Amino acid sequence: MVGLIERYRERLPFAPEDPVVSLGEGGTPLIPAPHVSERAGVEVWLKLEGANPTGSFKDRGMTCAVSAAVREGAQAVVCASTGNTAASAAAYAARAGLRGAVIVPEGKIATGKLAQALMHGARVIALRGNFDRALELVRELAARHPVALVNSVNELRIEGQKTAAFELLEALEDGLDALCIPVGNAGNITAYWRGFTEAGRRPRMLGFQAAGAAPLVHGAPVADPETVASAIRIGRPARWEEAMDAMTSSGGAVRAVSDQQILAAYRLLAAGEGVFCEPASAASVAGLLAHGAGDARRVVCVLTGHGLKDPQTALEQAGSVVPSESELGAIERAVLG
Ligand SMILES: *Cc1c(COP(=O)(O)O)cnc(C)c1O
Repeated sequence: MVGLIERYRERLPFAPEDPVVSLGEGGTPLIPAPHVSERAGVEVWLKLEGANPTGSFKDRGMTCAVSAAVREGAQAVVCASTGNTAASAAAYAARAGLRGAVIVPEGKIATGKLAQALMHGARVIALRGNFDRALELVRELAARHPVALVNSVNELRIEGQKTAAFELLEALEDGLDALCIPVGNAGNITAYWRGFTEAGRRPRMLGFQAAGAAPLVHGAPVADPETVASAIRIGRPARWEEAMDAMTSSGGAVRAVSDQQILAAYRLLAAGEGVFCEPASAASVAGLLAHGAGDARRVVCVLTGHGLKDPQTALEQAGSVVPSESELGAIERAVLG
């Protein structure tokens, strides 16, 4: 499987001779969601971005950001992260032979993401502060030192991530009327909108934030964002204006969903559709179920990251295991009872 720079090179800022750092990202499944469709009363597809190499859509942007970092001769890549950017940056840095350093809010990132960043050999710095502060600090760091900042304030991240919109248009012959997407730092909604705009097809953009971290919904930054959906626990989105522009110019909206609604969608997706995503990803489906999609009939929900990223939350939300003696009768009762 070729990576997305090779597949979409003519629509990305890379020349044929430029170095490419790829793990075979992109080309993720788009599958129908019968249960969600029935509940929402519209035709729903799920874009499984958890199927990317490190388990989230961040890889689309990271192949571009890290390839450009190599082209520019950077010595290291750095980012602030709620977890998935850290995991992705660490993997692509390892692949490129660059040093990686990631700054995460202490105690606030999911276990799987931490394990990934550490395994890929990045320096993981736990900041006594939230994501917004971490981003402020890495921006200053990158302004003073020859390191590549690979957060979604980096244009290459947006360029890479816009390819998901191309994939949707290629997969859906009749197109889509609305896109439901979780919004944290607002890079991804910006990227999809750029992709759709470049392709000349503009579905309604429906962005969803967690109620405890919903600055775009309130129209003001949130000082202490809080939600079970750690990937979107962000109080001051970097791409604020662009995200709002995407939603207004497409006739869409930004709305909040409660943690309870997020977790209900998270369980429905896993148990009903067979799709295990992380809590932040389920905000797209929770938002569709809570707020609808207007008169849209064909809707895509973006499931941004894999459920295995956050085993802790999964175990808290799931049923318990059934103990059994090691003999057939006990197993029969346990399995069939
Ligand atoms: C990063 C991330 C988001 C939010 O994307 P933004 O570009 O920050 O809006 C949503 N879900 C998951 C799983 C993520 O990793």
